[in-house]
Formats: sequence, structure tokens, C-alpha cells
Amino acid sequence: MSNELKENGMEMTDNGVVIAESREPLPAGVKLPIYMDNHATTQMDPRVLEAMLPFFGNVFGNAASRNHAFGWEAEKAVETAREQVAKLIGCTPKEIIFTSGATESNNLAIKGIAEMYRERGNHIITQVTEHKAVLDTCKKLEKAGYRVTYLPVQANGLIDIEDLRRAMDETTILVSIMYANNEIGVIQPVQEIGKLCHEKGVIFHTDGVQAVGKVPVNVQTDNIDVLSMTAHKIYGPKGVGALYVRRRNPRVQISEQINGGGHERGMRSGTLNVPGIVGLGAACEIAGTEMSVEAERLRSLRDYLKAKFEGALDYVHVNGDMQHHLPGNLNVSFVYVEGESLLMGINDIAVSSGSACTSATLEPSYVLKALGLGDDVAHSSIRFGLGRFNNKAEVDYVSDKLIDVVSKLRELSPLYEMVKEGIDLTKIEWAAH
Ligand code: PLP
Repeated sequence: MSNELKENGMEMTDNGVVIAESREPLPAGVKLPIYMDNHATTQMDPRVLEAMLPFFGNVFGNAASRNHAFGWEAEKAVETAREQVAKLIGCTPKEIIFTSGATESNNLAIKGIAEMYRERGNHIITQVTEHKAVLDTCKKLEKAGYRVTYLPVQANGLIDIEDLRRAMDETTILVSIMYANNEIGVIQPVQEIGKLCHEKGVIFHTDGVQAVGKVPVNVQTDNIDVLSMTAHKIYGPKGVGALYVRRRNPRVQISEQINGGGHERGMRSGTLNVPGIVGLGAACEIAGTEMSVEAERLRSLRDYLKAKFEGALDYVHVNGDMQHHLPGNLNVSFVYVEGESLLMGINDIAVSSGSACTSATLEPSYVLKALGLGDDVAHSSIRFGLGRFNNKAEVDYVSDKLIDVVSKLRELSPLYEMVKEGIDLTKIEWAAH
């Protein structure tokens, strides 16, 4: 196997990843494979790990043990983390509930509010490009008799606030619209959405996973009532997250979804994951201090990547409004390139494609389709997620490699050739076969 790979210019790393073998010495700062998929998860910051380590060792108490020093020490660490999280999003520590991550936070928020306010109404509004943790939760509630409106997005990925206004009625109890999208990086008009919700007396929940720690998020000025977040997208550990639940103006109540010892003010029972929570707190603290410098650096790397593609290639389609956008995100369709071949050609770079593997087929991303992209264009799309540990040399390597692979694939593409010859593909009548 390894010889076979070598003959084809590839090799396998210790952890089984097949990568293209580099035939030339790599530039300084580049080590293969390159990780540029920071919306999927992030590498833990060594400072976060350092903060967590004692809690895997001799600081092992249960934060709910009220009658001895082991418990007090754990509780103290949890309360410090609660303050760190609260500070990052502008709320009070009491408004933070620790969870196992954003999937749980979204479930707790949406199901918990739906159940608690059932008497008031049964209508929920969300939008089509939400993460599955929101969409599938809403679908489940539909089966339980709730009515859910899925707002469309415009071609730039943003909702139209007037659509939201029109969708609201006297039975609406909850609006759940994400802060920033995990595929196309667009930032929704959260302040306006929250303002409208408050005018109408509707609770506003936002999935803040991709925004918190990356752009300034403030639940007061952003008019947010409930917000989900997770540690592993902000250089913290996996399996820990939080839910912000507003206590004043308005006081939001949530019906618990896990029953047990009454932890987290009764909203989320279960022994607290003290090392994880400490890690989340440390990640928030670092994000708060470094966010503005980091965002500027990532924005300029992202713009550089985009400019290189646009300078070297034609038919490069950038997805999502670039004015309201996460600094580290770039989602590009390399039109007239076959998606699977493209991914195979860049297998020493970790990015995400515009296709999702379902059980049997490769489905085009529902987010890209919601923007109006055809299946082929969606399949030819790549999401680049730049993060704290990426550098300019990597961006150069990635852009050069993509330009090279896309150019080669287009040389083989009859569609590209036809377009270059000025043939309008929409006017062609293809023979069925
Ligand atoms: N919401 C968004 C927007 C995400 O990107 C993710 C992560 O994939 C989640 C929710 C789920 O978060 P977690 O992995 O913490 O369950």
C-alpha cells in the first residue's frame, strides 16, 4: 500500500491520513497536512490546556460537594469560568448555564422555551440555513404539534428582516436565528432581529457558536435573550459549552430537558465537567483579550487568499455577503470544476467541501442551495476556515495549490472549454442518456 501510494506521489501519515508527497522542500512555516477547517473545530490553545491540567490531576472534586474543600475548590474554578464566559458576551455570571456543547445548548433553548411558553403560543420562527442542531430540533417540535416557519435567505445568505416581521403573529413565542453561519460565514442582522422580537414580546435565541470569540458579541446591545456557544470552536476542549439565559428585561424561563440533581439552577442536571468548564473559561478569557488583533490578522489573510484566487482564476464565485462576514471565513465556488476531483487534488489541505456525505450519495450543501446555487456549483465549493494557528506561508501554499489544481481540472473540462468559446450553456439541449 505505502509503495503504491509513493509511486503516485502520495504518502500516509502516522495517523493514516493520505497526503500528497511534497517533491520540493516546503517553505518555512508550512507543515503538511495544513489545517484550514477552523469552523469544524479548532486546535486547543496550549494556554487552555495548561489551565485545565490540574483538574485532571489532584484537583478532582465535585463542584456540587458543598461540605468539603475538594468540592469548594472545584466550585471556585467553575465560578471563575462562569465569570470569564459572562464577561466575553456581556452578561452576568448567573445567566450562564454549562452544557456539553452547542448541540445540547440549542436543544435546551428551543425545546425548553417551547415547553415553558406552550400556553402562550405554539409558533416558532427560524431560517433555512441554520445548523442541524436547530433545524432537527424544530422538526421534532413540529411532530409534537408546534408550528415552525423556516424563513428563506437572500442570495447573499442574509434573512430579510421584513420576512421576519411578516412571519410573526400573536402565537409566536420564539425566534431562533443564528449569529454567524458555519458554512458561508455571514453575520445576520442580530441587533435588528432582537429589537423586533422585543417590540413584539417574542423571545430571541441565537446560535452564537461561530461568532462568539471571533467578533464582538454583546447580549445587551445585540438584544439577545438566549445564546448557545461551545468551547471547541474557540480553541477550547470538545464536549463543553454554555447557554446564556436572560434573567431581566425580559426574564426568560426554560423548562429543563435533563432531570436529576438540579444543577445549574435546575436547568441542566448532571455533575459538572470541571476541567472542560475551566477550559471554556480560559478560552473565553483569551478570546476577549486577543479578539481585535486576531480578527484583523485573519481578515487580512482571508482577503489575501480571496485576492489570489480572483487574480489567477476566472469563474470564481464567492459565497455570502462579504460586508457582514466572519474574519476567518471564505467560501468559494470554483465553477466548472468537478468537486470530488478537486478535493482529491488538494488532499494535503484540510478544508470542507460544498458536499455532505449522506448514507449513499454526495448531497450538495443545503446552505449553498438556499443561496440559489445549482448542484454542480455547490459541489465545486470549498470552505476555508482560517484560525489562530494559520500563517501567511500556509495561505500561500493553499492558494497556489488550489490555483494549480483548478487550472489543471479545467483543462480537462469540456464545459469550461465551451464557456471559454462563448457558448451559452443554459441554451444547450443536452441529450438524455
Ligand atoms: N451550531 C453551529 C453553527 C455549529 O457550527 C456547530 C458545530 O458544528 C454546532 C452548532 C454544534 O456544536 P457542538 O459541536 O458543540 O455540539
